[in-house]
Amino acid sequence: MMVDVLYLTAAVCFIFALGGLSRAESAQRGNLCGIFGMAIACVAAYLSVNSADFWFILIAIVMGGGIGVFIARAVSMTALPQMVAGFHSLVGLAAVLISFSACFAPELFRISTPSGIKVLSLLEMGLGSTIGSVTFIGSLIAFLKLQGIYKGHSIPLPLNAFFASSICCLLFYFTVTESEEAFLLLTMISLLFGATLIMPVGGADMPVVVSMLNSYSGWATSGIGFTIGNHLLIITGALVGSSGAILSYIMCRGMNRSLWSVIFAPEQAKANDAVASGGTRAFKSGAPEDAAFILKNANSVIVVPGYGMATSKAQYALKELGDMLKKDGISVKYAIHPVAGRMPGHMNVLLAEADVRYDDVFELEEINRDFSSCDVAYVVGANDVVNPAAKNDPSCSIYGMPILEAEKAKIILFLKRSMGTGYAGIDNELFYASNTMVLLGDAKKTTEDIIKAMRE
Ligand code: NDP
Repeated sequence: MMVDVLYLTAAVCFIFALGGLSRAESAQRGNLCGIFGMAIACVAAYLSVNSADFWFILIAIVMGGGIGVFIARAVSMTALPQMVAGFHSLVGLAAVLISFSACFAPELFRISTPSGIKVLSLLEMGLGSTIGSVTFIGSLIAFLKLQGIYKGHSIPLPLNAFFASSICCLLFYFTVTESEEAFLLLTMISLLFGATLIMPVGGADMPVVVSMLNSYSGWATSGIGFTIGNHLLIITGALVGSSGAILSYIMCRGMNRSLWSVIFAPEQAKANDAVASGGTRAFKSGAPEDAAFILKNANSVIVVPGYGMATSKAQYALKELGDMLKKDGISVKYAIHPVAGRMPGHMNVLLAEADVRYDDVFELEEINRDFSSCDVAYVVGANDVVNPAAKNDPSCSIYGMPILEAEKAKIILFLKRSMGTGYAGIDNELFYASNTMVLLGDAKKTTEDIIKAMRE
C-alpha cells in the first residue's frame, strides 16, 4: 500500500516535471520535480524488495549514479545529443535483458501458470524485446552518426518490409507456442530491423530520429513495467513514449516532412553523403571592424544562433554584444529554429546559460516576419536553418523545411570558420548574396573582436 502511494506520488511528480520542462521559464522547476520524483521512486523500489536484494540495488544505484555524474561533467554541451542517444540505447538494452530474464526464468516474475507462461505476459515480453532491440541498435547508430563516425547507407524498402513482417509472424508464433528459439530469432531480427531502420536516415532528419528513439525507449520501459508488474514503470514509460511521439510529430511538422518519409526515405542518406563543393565561389568577406561599424549604425538586429555557436561557446560574448547594442538603443532579438544545433532546445539552453532574457528569444513563427524590417541578421554558426535552398531547390535534402528568413534582412553577417557546409551537407546561396558579409573565424573570437572594435 505504502509503496503504491509512493509510486503514484512519483508519477505525479514526473507529470509536473514534463509540464515544467515545456517552457524555458519553468524548466528549472520542472527539473527539480523530476529529481524529486525519481528520489521517491528509488525509495519505493527499496521498500518493495526483500532485505537480501537491498544491497545489490544500493550498489547498482551508487555505481550508476557515479557513472552518470562523471558523464554529465565530462560531456560538453555540443556532445549532448550523442549522450542522449547513448542513454536511450541503455534503456533499450535493459528492456531486452528483462524480457530475456522473464522468458528464461518466469518463476521470478510470477507470470507462470501450471500450463506455462501467461499469454499476455508472452506478448509483453515479445514486444518488450522487439522494441528494446530496435531502440538499442537504433540509438547506437544514431550515436555513431551524431558523433560523425558513421555516415549512413541506403537500405532497400523491401528489406525493411521483410524484417517488419517477420517480426509480426515471430511475435505471433512465440505468443502461441512459447518457443524459446522463436524468442531468440525475434530478438535477432529486431536488432537487424533497428539497424536497417536508422542507417538510411539523413542528417537533416536526425532530430526526429533522436526524439523517435526517445519515444521507443519509453514504450520499451512500459513493456518492462507490464512484465514485472511495476505500475511506475508503466506510467513513466507511457509518459516518455507519448511525449517523444508528440515531439517527433511536432518536429516533422516543423520540417514539413512526414514521419513515414523520415523513416523510409533512403535518398536522405545519399543527400547527406554528397558534401557540396562550397569554397570555390566568390563571396564578400569582412573584418570585425566592418561588422562593428554595420552593427553600430543599425536600428534592429536579429541574432540567429546555430551549431557553430555551441561549438565555439560564443553565447557569453553574444550576450555581451547584445547588451552593448541595446545600451545604444538598438533592438536586439534572438531567433531560434526548432532544429538549430544538434538537439531540440539546444540553442535555448545555451542562451539561457548566458542569461539572455527569455523575452528576447523568439521561435521561428514568431520572428520570421520581422526579418524584412530588420537591418542586420547576425548569423552565428548557423547554416542549414537559414538556407533558402529549403524553399527554392526541390532536389535538396532539406527541401520543405521552414527556415529563418535571414535573407530578407538588409544586411546579413555570417560568422563561420570556412565556406564549408552545415550538417545537411549542402551549399548555401546566402553566403554569396550581394547583401551578405562573411566573417571567417571562430564565432566566439570574432564576436569578441567585434566588441573590442565597438569599444574602440
Ligand atoms: P549547421 O550544422 O547547418 O551549420 C553549422 C555552421 O556552424 C557551419 O556552417 C559551420 O561552418 C559553423 N561552425 C562550426 N563551428 C564553428 C565555430 N567554432 N565558429 C564559427 N562557426 C562554426 O547548423 P544549424 O544549427 O544551422 O542547423 C542544424 C542542423 O543540424 C540541421 O541540418 C538539423 O537538421 C541538424 N540536426 C539538428 C538536431 C537538433 O535536434 N537540433 C539533431 C541532429 C541534427 P564552418 O565549419 O565553416 O565553421
